[in-house]
Amino acid sequence: MSQRISRQEALDLFKADLHEIGLRADAIRKEKHPDNVVSYIIDRNINYTNLCNAYCTFCAFYRPPGDTEEGYTLPNEVIFKKIEETIELGGTGILLQGGDNPDLPIEYYENLLREMKRRYKIHAHCFSAPELVNLANVANLSIEDTLKRLRDAGLDSIPGGGAEILDDAVRKRISPLKCTTEEWLNVHRTAHRLGLRTTATMMFGCGETLEHRLNHFERIRNLQDEYGGFTAFISWPFQPDNTPLGKKHSRKTTAVEYLMNQAVSRIFLDNIDNIQSSWVTMGLGTGQVGLYFGANDVGSIMIEENVVSAAGTTYRTTERELRHMISAAGFIPMQRTTLYTMKADSLHGVGQILIPVGASSTPAEQIVNA
Ligand code: SF4
Repeated sequence: MSQRISRQEALDLFKADLHEIGLRADAIRKEKHPDNVVSYIIDRNINYTNLCNAYCTFCAFYRPPGDTEEGYTLPNEVIFKKIEETIELGGTGILLQGGDNPDLPIEYYENLLREMKRRYKIHAHCFSAPELVNLANVANLSIEDTLKRLRDAGLDSIPGGGAEILDDAVRKRISPLKCTTEEWLNVHRTAHRLGLRTTATMMFGCGETLEHRLNHFERIRNLQDEYGGFTAFISWPFQPDNTPLGKKHSRKTTAVEYLMNQAVSRIFLDNIDNIQSSWVTMGLGTGQVGLYFGANDVGSIMIEENVVSAAGTTYRTTERELRHMISAAGFIPMQRTTLYTMKADSLHGVGQILIPVGASSTPAEQIVNA
């Protein structure tokens, strides 16, 4: 069994040899997932509103409240049509996420969830911590009462968006009006206490230090020790295009920096089972190599994505291509649900193992030897 590492050891990892860190993260992945399965989900990211009063400097997606030209809140019928399309594609879940819209009362969210669950058999993975803090403020309710009302209306789990870097020095610089570190943690802690599972995320490469990243990792690990409510950890790099912050930090995170951060997350976050490789921001090639740097999941086929693409990154794939990407790397692809249970009928032929005859090195070795 791998040992829990300290903060200092994690800092040292960032300065160590990438190849060695990759092998160490891969060994932990194998320990936690000895079946050699790499999972994916078919779901849809529906951004129900882009109106937002948080004005984050890294965001190219939002429009200010009152913007009648480009601002929107989707009519429920449009949302339902998107859910139907998702179900037709074999989808099992919906990720509803939007801006911190000050004009939507809690009844809007309750009615939407109730109607969704009445019409469809679909997992509702909805509303990131900043939206929930905003929603609770608008409704003048505590986070606990807000979550209870939404859960009773049909909320199944909560996405980890809006974490960026969980350090208030960074948050004050890049998103001063958004929820604080403690507010983000409190939403997830309260959700876990109420029995709602959530994911944890990180957006890095926005001018933070390694100490800031370690504060983030440590806060996630400590919270996971309390209730074990995080299903997964997902990190991705800041996408600078079309954003105010991108004018100051225009350099994109490289594949090597991405893989290092992901591998350290796998090693440090010893109490989180699933680490997701972010092909959506890094491309399918790096996403595939990430499977040798601690990841055991590749997330969604991304039927729809508006936030990262607004910042200039537009990677897309199909289920077939994603399964091929997984099997060509030497793993068994398996469709999962939002809560990481495997779908019984997911081994349907396209997922045979396709390691080229005579291949002498893993994709991880190929990239670090390049
Ligand atoms: S990242 Fe989210 S909270 Fe921040 S401005 Fe964009 S939509 Fe609003």
